[in-house]
Amino acid sequence: MADKKKKWADNVQGAYYVDDQCIDCDACRTEAPNNFKRNDENGYSFVYKQPSTPDEETQSKAAMEACPVEAIGNDGHKTDNETDHKKCNATGT
Ligand code: SF4
Repeated sequence: MADKKKKWADNVQGAYYVDDQCIDCDACRTEAPNNFKRNDENGYSFVYKQPSTPDEETQSKAAMEACPVEAIGNDGHKTDNETDHKKCNATGT
């Protein structure tokens, strides 16, 4: 399972990311070429554009499922600065 704490700095902010388990197999870039790109210098993939259409969403999901080492994660629409407690509706009274 992908680990958000280990994701590459190149990933654009948003739901999808690639972490440091990537073995540069090319599957994600083939499945979702609009969203995944190769870091040629260091030999790994990262998300350079979050999916913004239903097609891209489908392709990015397929990329995640195709990844042989589960290096691709999707944490919903949370940003790095958001935490789960923001989802809580408790008033804390
Ligand atoms: S499918 Fe997974 S292992 Fe292969 S390049 Fe993409 S992130 Fe890396």
